[in-house]
Amino acid sequence: MAKFRCGACGRKGECEYDGDRHGCPLCGSADLVLALAIEEVPDEVLAAFASLGSDDEGRDGD
Ligand SMILES: [Zn+2]
Repeated sequence: MAKFRCGACGRKGECEYDGDRHGCPLCGSADLVLALAIEEVPDEVLAAFASLGSDDEGRDGD
């Protein structure tokens, strides 16, 4: 299960992440932030994040 937060309807929840649909299960908006459990994230995605550098670190907004 993947946690998500929808930027359109503002609701949060969990959904089955199938890597294919990228819409909010509640309102259908594509403005969705998925927070996959770390064990669900493919290694190549982790590597991609790691290669982004640390520009965002130290910015402590919410
Ligand atoms: Zn929504």
